[in-house]
Amino acid sequence: MKDTPDLDLAFDRAHLWHPYTSMHAPLPVYPVRAARGVRIELTDGRQLIDGMASWWSVLHGYNHPVLNRAVRDQLERMAHVMFGGLTHEPVIELGKRLVDMTPAGLTRVFFADSGSVSVEVAIKMAVQYWHALGKPQKHRMLAVRGGYHGDTFAAMSVCDPVTGMHTLFEGALAKQVFAPRPAPAFAAAWDDSSARELESLIAQHAHELAAVIIEPIVQGAGGMWFYHPQYLVQLRAACDAHGVLLICDEIATGFGRSGKLFGCEHAGIEPDIMCVGKALTGGYMTLAATLANDRVADGISSGPAGGTFMHGPTYMGNALACAVANANLELLSGNGDPARAWPARVAQLEHGLRQGLAACSGMPSVADVRVLGAIGVVELKQDVNMADAQRYFVAHGVWVRPFGKLVYVMPPYVMNLTDLAQVCAAISGYVETLC
Ligand code: PLP
Repeated sequence: MKDTPDLDLAFDRAHLWHPYTSMHAPLPVYPVRAARGVRIELTDGRQLIDGMASWWSVLHGYNHPVLNRAVRDQLERMAHVMFGGLTHEPVIELGKRLVDMTPAGLTRVFFADSGSVSVEVAIKMAVQYWHALGKPQKHRMLAVRGGYHGDTFAAMSVCDPVTGMHTLFEGALAKQVFAPRPAPAFAAAWDDSSARELESLIAQHAHELAAVIIEPIVQGAGGMWFYHPQYLVQLRAACDAHGVLLICDEIATGFGRSGKLFGCEHAGIEPDIMCVGKALTGGYMTLAATLANDRVADGISSGPAGGTFMHGPTYMGNALACAVANANLELLSGNGDPARAWPARVAQLEHGLRQGLAACSGMPSVADVRVLGAIGVVELKQDVNMADAQRYFVAHGVWVRPFGKLVYVMPPYVMNLTDLAQVCAAISGYVETLC
């Protein structure tokens, strides 16, 4: 790749930590000059069709005029004011939108600065709820294997204990209760053995459990696994039967990605607490929210010390982020045009992904191909060499970043079928090289 004089890649390599890399042997990084629509432009002029939506966040494409304007307009008024003792129009509007669009019982909103922080907040809410009710012994979480909820400490403690860095932080992490990975698969015939195991763990640990935390329907970074909606129905029933709260982490699944506005809608259940983030600002800025129902909010608020909920980040309710989130959610609805609204776009992408990835199904190196909503996954039998894979994808004009055995695509919702076909063709071409 041609280096450009204005971009000091040697400094980047020597001094900047990229996600999940060693400073001694960092993976190659590709310098970006701009991004527009579904294309990322490298400094040498090459254009890559983005199959990753910048880790589930970009819905309407990069450099979108409506989102740019929302940021600019808000910037003219104020970028930020503290949320302690002050409030403003973008945060109120966003709160209303979230209360309206999430399941009916979720009426209270806490704005956080990233997905991981919103998970910390959700866990704190659950623990503080039981403390307020005079049951401080109910402070543990039950999570499922294969889950991913973020990289901060409480979030890490509920990630998969094998792939989730638990061994590295042994002793520093809270010890949680783990159920097996949810099963059966999304479209498989229902079999309740996995749900029954979960129920019995909930029953056994109910006296010490504050909540169960789960990614509804789609386990993302923990394995891109789609499980059966009935599992969630039984989970909700078990939580109710045994007095345990339910936290749904919709940070990856939220805002239409799985084919429903929120993953829990596949099962028709409502959590007590829900986390949203990532796509909330359409990939513009970091912002997340933790929503709670009246039971949780009222429980915490009637607790000791005046019922104060003990969290309050500096950038809480950031005005720029809320303004762009409002514009993003307006675009998501299609501004009244059903053809531009998310359900039509996601359905079209689902169809394109099924067609485009079908070629991978019979290949000897492939263990499974699965598609749900705007998520397409090719699971291989062996781990991928990430640097090689990325070189291949960049050479073929697409941006796809596999991990472990998983080569997956989750395009921005505005991607057309021609571009999607090119991303899928690059994936099947790469997978073919492994045979
Ligand atoms: N929860 C889920 C389901 C996620 O997929 C992620 C990020 O990938 C997080 C939490 C953490 O979000 P963030 O990276 O914004 O901290």
